[in-house]
Amino acid sequence: MVKVPTKLVTWDEIVEWSMGLAEVIKKSGFKPDVVVAVSRGGYVPARLICDFLLVDNLVSLQSQHWTEAAKVAEKAIIKFPYTIDLRDNKILLVDDIVDTGDTLILARDFILSEWKPRELKIAALQWISPVAKIKPDFYYIEVRDWVWFQYPWTRHEDTTQFIKRILVEEKEKREWTFNELEVKFRESYGIYVGDVYFRLALRTLVELGVLDVKDGKYLVKVSR
Ligand code: AMP
Repeated sequence: MVKVPTKLVTWDEIVEWSMGLAEVIKKSGFKPDVVVAVSRGGYVPARLICDFLLVDNLVSLQSQHWTEAAKVAEKAIIKFPYTIDLRDNKILLVDDIVDTGDTLILARDFILSEWKPRELKIAALQWISPVAKIKPDFYYIEVRDWVWFQYPWTRHEDTTQFIKRILVEEKEKREWTFNELEVKFRESYGIYVGDVYFRLALRTLVELGVLDVKDGKYLVKVSR
């Protein structure tokens, strides 16, 4: 049974969605002077938007909420609050997805009060309309049923955390084969990230001291 509904997003989809989003922005007539990527999720979409809209100026602000894949942290924070003078500029704030909307709201309010732009608009590739506290000015996909989008830029991090969660949930089982873990991963998340990423995540868990490898089997060292 799938525990966390997850959708694997490919690099090609990211390019297609960003191109589509850029088209929506262009049609609106809004011409940003500066693109601001909400770090870390907005980085890649923001860079692509700059490419498609031919915008030179790209800065970033780290507003963080979800510290672990598919697990929301208590409170959103601006990690490195810094100030630049954007009084004469029109800003496009770009993120990957608006889920709760908390990180974007925080980033928007911080920029409006500290950077004081002439205008600010928000763009996101995806907007989870039933749960989001804000609607972005521009979006490409409206999501109606919540899922965790496994974006290509968090594939290693997400896979590592997802495997770790499996180990914690199945704490009685202390020994796993690669195939058993692979099957359990598919069962729990409904996706497969490919052997390269799966092996990389397992190697990371060994490096982190969570797993040990012996005779081709994975032994659980830490169950938290
Ligand atoms: P939020 O403040 O809840 O709107 O989300 C903050 C950030 O967490 C997003 O910009 C994403 O990078 C990540 N995130 C939140 N929800 C999801 C989701 N359903 N799928 C993938 N990433 C997500």
